[in-house]
Amino acid sequence: MIDDESFKDLLYEEKIKIMNGMTEIQLQESLEQIKFMCKDYCGKCPSYQGTGETNLAFCSLGKSSLIKEKKGCLCKQCPISKMMSLRWEYYCIEGSALELAIAKKK
Ligand code: SF4
Ligand code: SF4
Repeated sequence: MIDDESFKDLLYEEKIKIMNGMTEIQLQESLEQIKFMCKDYCGKCPSYQGTGETNLAFCSLGKSSLIKEKKGCLCKQCPISKMMSLRWEYYCIEGSALELAIAKKK
């Protein structure tokens, strides 16, 4: 098992591989934690507000069907970006981190 200190420096692609071993319950708990954090970032971002969107955690769940315009993104400030080594932004428009990694977006 990898220790916390080594985990923190891994690339997103390496972290997601480790998380592939998680159980359904662990994944669900992790998604709830992401949403809890996300409401203070996505929930307060100019691209989100006023769109009628109520979903969160676009980095995990992918695009929003309601957010269409890039008016600013707070993902870089969100602790989930650091925790998971996310290097993109505008997940609500561009798609999930996994989709962006597969598309080999830098
Ligand atoms: S992904 Fe970025 S732009 Fe989209 S709602 Fe979240 S913080 Fe805003
Ligand atoms: S990185 Fe962005 S989409 Fe993901 S939880 Fe944080 S604010 Fe939400």
